Amino acid sequence: MNKFAKDILKESMSKDHVTVMEKLEEPKHDEDIAEALGVKATIVRTILNDLHSKGLVKYERTKNEKTGWYTYLWKKREEKLADYIRGYLNERSEALRHELALAKDGMIITCGCTNLSVDDAQDVGFLCEKCEGTFREFDSSEAIKKLDEEIARIEKLLKKA
Ligand SMILES: [Zn+2]
Repeated sequence: MNKFAKDILKESMSKDHVTVMEKLEEPKHDEDIAEALGVKATIVRTILNDLHSKGLVKYERTKNEKTGWYTYLWKKREEKLADYIRGYLNERSEALRHELALAKDGMIITCGCTNLSVDDAQDVGFLCEKCEGTFREFDSSEAIKKLDEEIARIEKLLKKA
């Protein structure tokens, strides 16, 4: 995995997902990855399941005839990485453009800690769960500026993808 792929994986999932992917230079069992990282196997399994849902890893399941338990041998699918990265960046770019359009139309409101579309704020009764503030209109020029910057950053990444 190159640095670019690592950065995108970290941004879209987490640093731990990158760490687990890197442990899969060779096919490994989840317990072995957990032991190597010094974390619980359940944590590694959750991460592997995430990666699996994105198509980035696959596994072979074998039954231990003595215990009747299944073991999973995980392999990374490096060939799927490029598609995943492009998919993530395109989705992110689309979501940001949508948000920007709403912000420009004055359809984004804020509680002070979170910006939401009027529709989404309506769904929560215009009350923020986090800060308990009320969503209200605001000068969105700063939000628009930030969205423009974020879109530019994603576009730049897409050129490399
Ligand atoms: Zn809030």
